[in-house]
Amino acid sequence: MKAIKNFIGYLLEYPNCNARQLPVDHRRFYTLKNRILEKYGTKDREDLQHVVKRCFQCGGTGKYHGKTCWRCKEGIYQQFYCVLSRYWLGKHMFHVPGIKEQRRPNIRYVKFIKGIIRHEPREEKAAIRAFYLLTFLFDKKLFFESISEKIRRSSPVRFIKSIRSRIRSLFAKNRLDDFKERDIPF
Ligand SMILES: [Zn+2]
Repeated sequence: MKAIKNFIGYLLEYPNCNARQLPVDHRRFYTLKNRILEKYGTKDREDLQHVVKRCFQCGGTGKYHGKTCWRCKEGIYQQFYCVLSRYWLGKHMFHVPGIKEQRRPNIRYVKFIKGIIRHEPREEKAAIRAFYLLTFLFDKKLFFESISEKIRRSSPVRFIKSIRSRIRSLFAKNRLDDFKERDIPF
Protein backbone atom coordinates (compact mmCIF):
# COMPACT_ATOMS: atom_id res chain seq x y z
CA MET A 1 0.00 0.00 0.00
CA LYS A 2 2.91 2.31 0.80
CA ALA A 3 4.34 2.01 -2.72
CA ILE A 4 0.91 2.58 -4.26
CA LYS A 5 0.31 5.70 -2.16
CA ASN A 6 3.68 7.05 -3.15
CA PHE A 7 2.89 6.31 -6.77
CA ILE A 8 -0.47 8.12 -6.58
CA GLY A 9 1.31 11.07 -4.97
CA TYR A 10 3.91 11.01 -7.70
CA LEU A 11 1.18 11.10 -10.37
CA LEU A 12 -0.85 13.76 -8.59
CA GLU A 13 2.05 16.21 -8.52
CA TYR A 14 2.03 16.49 -12.32
CA PRO A 15 -1.47 17.87 -12.92
CA ASN A 16 -1.24 19.77 -9.64
CA CYS A 17 1.64 21.78 -11.08
CA ASN A 18 -0.15 22.34 -14.41
CA ALA A 19 -3.75 22.69 -13.28
CA ARG A 20 -4.50 25.38 -15.87
CA GLN A 21 -3.42 23.23 -18.84
CA LEU A 22 -5.70 20.26 -18.24
CA PRO A 23 -8.50 19.22 -20.62
CA VAL A 24 -11.09 20.21 -17.98
CA ASP A 25 -11.63 23.24 -15.79
CA HIS A 26 -8.99 23.35 -13.04
CA ARG A 27 -11.68 23.43 -10.34
CA ARG A 28 -12.85 19.97 -11.35
CA PHE A 29 -9.31 18.72 -11.04
CA TYR A 30 -9.04 20.23 -7.56
CA THR A 31 -12.25 18.49 -6.49
CA LEU A 32 -10.72 15.19 -7.61
CA LYS A 33 -7.42 16.01 -5.95
CA ASN A 34 -9.10 16.76 -2.62
CA ARG A 35 -11.10 13.55 -2.80
CA ILE A 36 -8.00 11.46 -3.47
CA LEU A 37 -6.16 13.14 -0.61
CA GLU A 38 -9.00 12.70 1.85
CA LYS A 39 -9.27 9.03 0.97
CA TYR A 40 -5.63 7.98 0.60
CA GLY A 41 -3.61 10.78 2.10
CA THR A 42 -2.37 11.15 5.64
CA LYS A 43 -3.39 14.42 7.19
CA ASP A 44 -0.60 16.36 8.79
CA ARG A 45 -0.90 19.73 10.54
CA GLU A 46 -1.79 23.02 8.83
CA ASP A 47 -0.15 25.96 7.10
CA LEU A 48 -1.62 29.45 7.12
CA GLN A 49 -1.74 31.48 3.94
CA HIS A 50 -2.27 35.22 3.67
CA VAL A 51 -3.05 36.68 0.28
CA VAL A 52 -3.04 40.43 -0.34
CA LYS A 53 -4.07 41.61 -3.78
CA ARG A 54 -3.01 45.16 -4.48
CA CYS A 55 -5.25 47.32 -6.62
CA PHE A 56 -3.99 47.78 -10.17
CA GLN A 57 -6.36 50.67 -10.85
CA CYS A 58 -4.56 53.01 -8.48
CA GLY A 59 -1.26 51.13 -8.31
CA GLY A 60 -1.91 50.25 -4.69
CA THR A 61 -1.99 53.86 -3.51
CA GLY A 62 -5.71 54.13 -2.78
CA LYS A 63 -5.91 57.41 -4.70
CA TYR A 64 -7.09 57.65 -8.27
CA HIS A 65 -6.77 61.06 -10.00
CA GLY A 66 -6.70 62.75 -6.62
CA LYS A 67 -9.84 61.01 -5.35
CA THR A 68 -10.42 57.92 -3.25
CA CYS A 69 -10.10 54.89 -5.56
CA TRP A 70 -13.48 53.33 -6.31
CA ARG A 71 -12.06 49.87 -6.79
CA CYS A 72 -10.24 49.22 -3.53
CA LYS A 73 -9.82 50.05 0.11
CA GLU A 74 -6.58 51.94 0.78
CA GLY A 75 -4.83 50.34 -2.17
CA ILE A 76 -5.84 46.77 -1.31
CA TYR A 77 -8.27 45.18 -3.73
CA GLN A 78 -8.68 41.96 -1.79
CA GLN A 79 -7.08 40.23 1.17
CA PHE A 80 -7.84 36.95 2.88
CA TYR A 81 -6.45 34.23 5.10
CA CYS A 82 -6.75 30.58 4.24
CA VAL A 83 -5.95 27.53 6.34
CA LEU A 84 -4.16 24.97 4.18
CA SER A 85 -4.35 21.40 5.43
CA ARG A 86 -1.21 19.41 4.71
CA TYR A 87 -1.70 15.93 3.30
CA TRP A 88 0.97 13.36 2.55
CA LEU A 89 0.81 10.73 -0.14
CA GLY A 90 4.02 8.79 0.29
CA LYS A 91 6.85 11.29 -0.04
CA HIS A 92 4.64 13.90 -1.69
CA MET A 93 2.96 16.72 0.20
CA PHE A 94 -0.14 18.59 -0.94
CA HIS A 95 -2.35 21.35 0.41
CA VAL A 96 -6.10 21.25 0.68
CA PRO A 97 -7.36 24.80 1.19
CA GLY A 98 -10.12 25.65 3.63
CA ILE A 99 -12.48 28.59 3.26
CA LYS A 100 -11.17 32.12 2.76
CA GLU A 101 -11.47 34.30 5.83
CA GLN A 102 -11.13 38.05 6.24
CA ARG A 103 -9.71 37.78 9.74
CA ARG A 104 -6.62 35.92 10.76
CA PRO A 105 -7.77 32.62 12.27
CA ASN A 106 -6.35 31.77 15.64
CA ILE A 107 -4.65 28.47 14.88
CA ARG A 108 -1.26 26.83 15.34
CA TYR A 109 0.40 26.42 12.00
CA VAL A 110 3.60 24.98 10.60
CA LYS A 111 4.37 27.58 7.96
CA PHE A 112 3.09 31.04 7.23
CA ILE A 113 2.75 31.41 3.45
CA LYS A 114 2.59 34.88 1.94
CA GLY A 115 0.70 35.14 -1.33
CA ILE A 116 -0.38 32.65 -3.96
CA ILE A 117 1.53 29.38 -4.23
CA ARG A 118 3.05 28.96 -7.68
CA HIS A 119 4.26 25.56 -8.77
CA GLU A 120 7.08 25.09 -11.22
CA PRO A 121 5.20 23.69 -14.25
CA ARG A 122 6.00 20.17 -15.43
CA GLU A 123 6.06 18.99 -19.01
CA GLU A 124 2.54 19.61 -20.27
CA LYS A 125 2.04 16.23 -21.98
CA ALA A 126 3.21 14.35 -18.93
CA ALA A 127 0.83 16.34 -16.74
CA ILE A 128 -2.10 15.57 -19.04
CA ARG A 129 -1.24 11.85 -19.17
CA ALA A 130 -1.02 11.70 -15.39
CA PHE A 131 -4.37 13.47 -15.25
CA TYR A 132 -5.95 10.85 -17.54
CA LEU A 133 -4.60 8.00 -15.48
CA LEU A 134 -5.84 9.54 -12.22
CA THR A 135 -9.31 10.15 -13.61
CA PHE A 136 -9.37 6.61 -15.02
CA LEU A 137 -8.56 5.23 -11.57
CA PHE A 138 -10.64 7.55 -9.42
CA ASP A 139 -13.29 9.32 -11.50
CA LYS A 140 -14.49 7.42 -14.57
CA LYS A 141 -17.07 10.04 -15.45
CA LEU A 142 -14.44 12.75 -15.64
CA PHE A 143 -12.13 10.39 -17.53
CA PHE A 144 -14.69 9.72 -20.29
CA GLU A 145 -15.63 13.38 -20.46
CA SER A 146 -12.01 14.44 -20.95
CA ILE A 147 -11.31 11.63 -23.41
CA SER A 148 -14.34 12.46 -25.55
CA GLU A 149 -13.25 16.08 -25.60
CA LYS A 150 -9.84 14.89 -26.78
CA ILE A 151 -11.40 12.68 -29.50
CA ARG A 152 -13.53 15.54 -30.68
CA ARG A 153 -10.39 17.65 -31.13
CA SER A 154 -8.00 15.15 -32.75
CA SER A 155 -8.19 12.74 -35.68
CA PRO A 156 -9.42 9.22 -34.79
CA VAL A 157 -6.32 7.50 -36.18
CA ARG A 158 -3.93 9.63 -34.16
CA PHE A 159 -6.03 9.12 -31.07
CA ILE A 160 -6.08 5.30 -31.38
CA LYS A 161 -2.33 5.25 -31.93
CA SER A 162 -1.67 7.39 -28.90
CA ILE A 163 -3.93 5.39 -26.61
CA ARG A 164 -2.62 2.01 -27.85
CA SER A 165 0.94 2.66 -26.78
CA ARG A 166 -0.25 4.09 -23.51
CA ILE A 167 -2.36 1.06 -22.66
CA ARG A 168 0.52 -1.24 -23.59
CA SER A 169 2.90 0.52 -21.25
CA LEU A 170 0.31 0.59 -18.46
CA PHE A 171 0.38 -3.20 -18.41
CA ALA A 172 4.15 -3.44 -18.69
CA LYS A 173 5.71 -5.56 -15.96
CA ASN A 174 6.94 -4.13 -12.68
CA ARG A 175 5.95 -0.60 -13.56
CA LEU A 176 5.03 0.24 -10.00
CA ASP A 177 8.30 -0.99 -8.53
CA ASP A 178 10.84 0.54 -10.77
CA PHE A 179 9.48 3.90 -11.84
CA LYS A 180 12.08 6.61 -11.79
CA GLU A 181 11.33 10.02 -10.37
CA ARG A 182 12.21 11.77 -13.59
CA ASP A 183 10.21 9.57 -15.99
CA ILE A 184 6.52 9.53 -16.30
CA PRO A 185 5.84 5.83 -15.93
CA PHE A 186 3.51 5.19 -18.86
ZN1 LIG B 1 -7.40 51.24 -5.98
